[in-house]
Amino acid sequence: MVLFAASILIAKLHIDTKIGKAQTSPSIVLESAFGKENLIPIVIIGSGPAGLTGAIYGRRGGVRTIVIEGDEPGGLLTKTTDVENWPGERTILGPNLIKKMHQQAKELGVEFVADLVERIDISSWPYRVITQEGVTYHAMAILVATGATPKKLGVPGEEKYWGRGVSSCAVCDAAFFKDKHVVVVGGGDSAVEQAFQLLPYVKSVKLLVRKDSMRAAQTLQDRLKEQPKITVSYASQPREIVGDGKAVTGIKVYDAKAAKETLLAIDGVFLAIGHDPNTALVKGIVPLDASGYIVMEGRTQHTKIEGIFAAGEVEDYRYKQAIVSAGRGAQAALDALAFLGDIGYTPGLELTKAAKKKSHKGGAQEGIKSAFIELPEIICAKELDNLISNSKIPILLDFYTKPCSLCKQLLPAVVELQQEMQDKLCVYKVDAELADDVACRFNVRKVPTFILIDTKGNVSRSHAITSKKGLADFIAA
Ligand code: NDP
Repeated sequence: MVLFAASILIAKLHIDTKIGKAQTSPSIVLESAFGKENLIPIVIIGSGPAGLTGAIYGRRGGVRTIVIEGDEPGGLLTKTTDVENWPGERTILGPNLIKKMHQQAKELGVEFVADLVERIDISSWPYRVITQEGVTYHAMAILVATGATPKKLGVPGEEKYWGRGVSSCAVCDAAFFKDKHVVVVGGGDSAVEQAFQLLPYVKSVKLLVRKDSMRAAQTLQDRLKEQPKITVSYASQPREIVGDGKAVTGIKVYDAKAAKETLLAIDGVFLAIGHDPNTALVKGIVPLDASGYIVMEGRTQHTKIEGIFAAGEVEDYRYKQAIVSAGRGAQAALDALAFLGDIGYTPGLELTKAAKKKSHKGGAQEGIKSAFIELPEIICAKELDNLISNSKIPILLDFYTKPCSLCKQLLPAVVELQQEMQDKLCVYKVDAELADDVACRFNVRKVPTFILIDTKGNVSRSHAITSKKGLADFIAA
């Protein structure tokens, strides 16, 4: 009960302390998106559990989704070792878990961009996401999943010896401390985890905990007791990191119980004192709270700006668990899909409308070549059922697999044909391996296969097409 009341208080504090000026949403009219270069329905910034889960949900929602990975692809989970609280995985290495998520997203058709976002411009919609490499994406929806960065102590010597004995990543740097004495600062799960990561290399690890108790999970604390090489020093606050000019040689620690400062001779300092949310990109765009976290609108992943969503440690000031970030990523993508639906966007709409708008100006070819070069893709039978029941024109399914070179060869012809028949036919790609329920329904066992479904639901098929003419003849017949 006390805990419950305390958590309400924490939540209230975070709501009451909203700071940071935010902009207002520009007007959002779907038509203004058509013809824009690099137009992407969902742009995800960040590639940790929140970003990757958001990408999986976005793609499964049938829309083109890109992930701009940032400077630390995979995020903080890539720096942990064993993860033992991911449902369905008794124990899994953090980097492996991320690898699996990445793989799954990629197989679904999520596009990954190895670049960093430099700026977001929301003065008009679709929003402009500008990267360090100078690419501008026009985003219909943005999912901010930029995570958090390890905090620093702010004591003398920390900056001077950063990378020369001071680190916040044991899993990355432990090997440099073979047979050395090191300290880990912090009393949370990360501190204990870092101590264990250092264990195989170092001679000793001392945990410096500023209070007289630790906040790490009891199971982790129990495990500490089994390790003679690890000791815990309570009521211990670092005051200064000292060195010989080249590397760390010691740390000055204030012992609050004894009320005195001592100098410990050590070779390495590992910081595990929490994280700051990475919100520099959206500062001044969406509201942030007093600690810099993005403020969410009620129990959703919406920010105050329409079409901008956030998920994970960039907005979660309380739970900070990979599984929670993943859940929030899913919520954010669902919110983004609902937003796209609300403004009238459907996956099948993009090509037709884009071509229409351009052809109005007499430049249909150009329209297709820009943002809408890709054919929409169907990823499950349920999605197909929705499209069939809402379509007033025949639907052509182009079944392919990634290794099929003929499928790739035929694609430009299919795009061209769609362009020419924009009001008479809607073409969708289907990855026969991924959307196996769709392939199964039409008994597709070979690619390329074309399935034509007319407005009465009659189905015709061909897997002998090798040219645009062959495809046109098949449709005409
Ligand atoms: P926490 O915020 O949980 O812990 C930070 C620790 O650093 C606390 O002991 C805090 O002390 C101490 N601290 C903060 N500032 C200072 C300072 N200036 N000087 C000295 N000490 C300081 O952060 P973590 O990174 O450990 O964990 C964040 C979240 O991630 C948690 O929810 C945790 O459960 C989760 N996590 C989960 C893991 C897993 O499940 N495998 C692994 C790692 C983290 P005080 O207690 O006095 O505030």
